[in-house]
Order: sequence, then C-alpha cells, then structure tokens
Amino acid sequence: MSLQPFESKEIERAYAWLREYWRRPIDPEYHRVSTVQEALSILGAYGRRARILAGGIDFLGLMKSGIESPEALVNIKPVKALEHITLSRDSITIGALTRIRDLERSPIIERQYPILSEAARGIGSPHVRNMATLAGNICQETRCWYFRRPWESGISYACRRKDGGGKCFALDGENQYHGLMGKGDCVAVCPSDMATVFCAMDARIRTEAVGGGRTIQIKDFYSEYGNILNPGEMVTSVQVPRLSPGTEQRFLKFRIRKAIDFAIVSVASIIKMDRKGKVTDSRIVLGGVGYGPYVANGASEVLAGEKITEKAAEKAADASVSALKPLSKNAYKIPILKALVKRAILGQGRSVRFSQGSEAPGVAR
Ligand SMILES: Cc1cc2nc3c(=O)[nH]c(=O)nc-3n(C[C@H](O)[C@H](O)[C@H](O)COP(=O)(O)OP(=O)(O)OC[C@H]3O[C@@H](n4cnc5c(N)ncnc54)[C@H](O)[C@@H]3O)c2cc1C
Ligand code: SF4
Repeated sequence: MSLQPFESKEIERAYAWLREYWRRPIDPEYHRVSTVQEALSILGAYGRRARILAGGIDFLGLMKSGIESPEALVNIKPVKALEHITLSRDSITIGALTRIRDLERSPIIERQYPILSEAARGIGSPHVRNMATLAGNICQETRCWYFRRPWESGISYACRRKDGGGKCFALDGENQYHGLMGKGDCVAVCPSDMATVFCAMDARIRTEAVGGGRTIQIKDFYSEYGNILNPGEMVTSVQVPRLSPGTEQRFLKFRIRKAIDFAIVSVASIIKMDRKGKVTDSRIVLGGVGYGPYVANGASEVLAGEKITEKAAEKAADASVSALKPLSKNAYKIPILKALVKRAILGQGRSVRFSQGSEAPGVAR
C-alpha cells in the first residue's frame, strides 16, 4: 500500500518523536582509522558530535542503553602507534591503546611498577582485560545507577550529568556507592582503578587535538561531570616518572564480589623511606571517594619523618578521611578506607616493594 504524502509526513513525525522518546541511538557514521592524524581530522570536523571507540567495553554499552548516540564513531583500535610501553631514563610512557592485559603481564611493569600490575589484575575479567584499553579505562563513564538506567527499562533518570539540567537523584536517594565529598551537583565517583594508581604515581596524561595537544596531571584530569577533554581532543599516552629503588607501592581495593567487581573504595600508596626506615616522601590516594582520585595529603603530613609503626599508620589513616563528608547512605565507606590505608602503610596485603635497578631505555613492547 502506498502512502499519501500527508500520511507519510505524519509517520515520519511520529517516528522522529518515538526515536526521541525512546532515545534510540541513531546509526552513527563509522570511521576506522589507522593514524592519530586521521582520527584527529574526523574528531575535529565533528567536534562534540563524534566519539572515540577503543575497546568498546564501556562505550558500546552506553550506546546500547541509548545514553550515548554520537553522529560519528571513530574506531582508533587499528592505530598501532598508540600501543606501546616505552622506557626513558626518568619515566615510562604507556600508549593510550595499551590493553589492561598488557599492563598486567608486562615484566617491565611488574618490576618497576608492581602497583600497576596489581591494579590491572583486579580489573574485570580476563575477557574485559583483553579488550579494555588504558585510555578507555581512565575515560570510562561513571557507574551511577541513575545515570546508567536504560531508557528501555521504562524508568529513566534525566539527571544533571545526563541532560545538563534536572536534579541529582543520588543526592537524597540510593547513594551508597557514591562520593564522600558532601553535597554537590553530581555526587558520582570515578570508577577507574587505573586513575587512582596513576595519581599516586603522579602521572601525566598527554593529549592531541587539531590545534595542538597538552599535558595534564592526572589529579586535574577530572571534573564533577567526567573528564576535562575538549571535543576533538584525544588521549595519546600516560607518562609516569620512574620511582627510586626501595619505594613501597601498594594498591588495595575493597569490592563486594571478590571476582569481577568495581571498587567500593580503594587505596594506592607510594611510600619512600631512608636507610633508617623514616618516611622521606609519601603519596596516599583514595578511590571511590570523589569525581576523581582523592589525594589524602593529611596522611602524608602525618607520616613525614616518621618510622612506620602501628600508631603512625593509625594516625595517618584517621587523617586520610578527616575531611570526607559522607552522604546519607555511605558513611560505611569511612571505616573501610581507614582499614585499607592502615594496611597499605603497614605493608599488609600483597607486598610490592620495588627494589630493582634501572631498566635500559627503549620500547619495552
Ligand atoms: C564486567 C566489568 C568489570 C569491570 N571492572 C572494572 C574494575 O574493577 N576497575 C576498573 O577500573 N574498571 C572496570 N571495568 C571498566 C573497564 O575497565 C572499562 O570499561 C574499560 O577499560 C574501557 O576501555 P575501552 O578501551 O573498552 O574503552 P571504550 O569503551 O572504547 O571507551 C570508553 C570511553 O573512553 C573514551 N576513549 C577511549 N579511548 C580514548 C582516547 N584515546 N582518548 C579520549 N577518549 C577515549 C571513549 O570515547 C569512551 O567515552 C569493568 C568493566 C566491566 C564490563
Ligand atoms: S550522581 Fe551524577 S550521574 Fe548520578 S544521578 Fe546524580 S547527577 Fe546523575
């Protein structure tokens, strides 16, 4: 049956309305690129309407749920130049497309940064780690259940983070997995374990864009609504300074399911001591607390110049949480954080002391 022009127009209008109502993803233009330049020119042309696809673990799920519907999808997986672990005299640079599995298995990383191998091992399942990339991990979206609720479920939450306006449903709702920074516009937490560990390592993120790239300290990489990348900007690598031998490194993660689960809270610690066993430098970072990794400066102040004792660890643990402000249902995170910080300082759990000499500079893989 052929439709009259009027009917056809009505149907188109109804279809457009339905598509808007159900938030069905529009079919994006798909670009498979093999160089950074190619990716940048497409990202530059589409701006906010284009999105990068790496392993797809997070982003494809968001598209299926109708939360993301880009006009152009730029698959950067074939860009081999972004898949590397490179040593220089004073740093290690890890390419954006390095897979979590590669970080988990790299002997260089295991020797130099056991904290990174430890965190990588605890991410998802072997399947997830085989696909997931480093940049994808640090750029993944929040796990807030209001945000992630698919439109198809019949109940969706057009919260501030999703739609710019509206309210934050977690603020006075089910906020047991949310932040400890008090009331804010969006109280979701950064789900990336890599971000917590990189922050303890004082890592820097290198980005590229059509007009030029920049270097961002990981502690400045996040804002209340996600990362601070501009439209058209992509992460190309993460650079971590080399640590001196004798530096204690630990990553401890508390999760509800022992296998395959995001952190409820986590702690990454880097502690350097002199020959007499006194702390000369330390950095203690908490995950599951805020929109980005939370640097517990108070704990480092307590530890400075001290020998590691049960009492010092306890004082530092208290100091690490003293500025945190739980929401109505997540105060339970505080004692867990204190226990993890204390254990990390006392070297309980998996001990990861870096004591090797320096590796030769070059591309490690
Ligand atoms: C079952 C399961 C368990 C998990 N457990 C954990 C866990 O315990 N800890 C943890 O940290 N994570 C966990 N994750 C999350 C997982 O690690 C991330 O989803 C994954 O690392 C994303 O990487 P990807 O390469 O697949 O990114 P994609 O899904 O392809 O992309 C994710 C986001 O990053 C952006 N992006 C990707 N590459 C770049 C780039 N180079 N520059 C700029 N933006 C970019 C994309 O546009 C997108 O917005 C889990 C995931 C699953 C499914
Ligand atoms: S915490 Fe953020 S993502 Fe979750 S409901 Fe509130 S505004 Fe939305």
